[in-house]
Amino acid sequence: PADVKTLGRHTWTLLHTMAAYYPEKPEKKQQESMKTFFESFSEHYPCWFCKNDFKQDMAENPIDVTNRETLSEWLCRRHNKVNEKLGKKQFDCTKVFERWLTGPAN
Ligand code: FAD
Repeated sequence: PADVKTLGRHTWTLLHTMAAYYPEKPEKKQQESMKTFFESFSEHYPCWFCKNDFKQDMAENPIDVTNRETLSEWLCRRHNKVNEKLGKKQFDCTKVFERWLTGPAN
């Protein structure tokens, strides 16, 4: 696509926000549909080199849809894998809810 960075930034916003609002105690159906969503996402993300690496990473590190905590942690690690590849700083995954759910405490 014309702008891999803008696409990426906005996509991470959607994905982390979805994970942060995923139920703490999801129903089986919700777990299945979240897993299906990420499988489809990894097939259709419109940046082919991003998509190929992401699919590979998902194959090595299967999604954990158990609950909000596990899904958010899993996604944070996947994003950190991309950060590493791009030479960006690692994000502190203990801060994932502060960043994507509650906002900073002060
Ligand atoms: P982004 O990485 O877009 O992050 C946005 C915000 O998320 C940050 O400002 C920070 O507040 C927060 N954040 C950062 N790390 C984490 C984390 N681990 N967990 C939670 N929150 C975090 N670009 C490429 O050039 N090559 C690729 O192969 C590539 N693969 C990608 C694969 C996927 C699935 C996605 C969604 C994007 C990919 N991108 C890729 C785009 C890339 O990840 C960035 O989105 C883009 O470079 C813009 O970076 P940014 O510095 O604005 O911050």
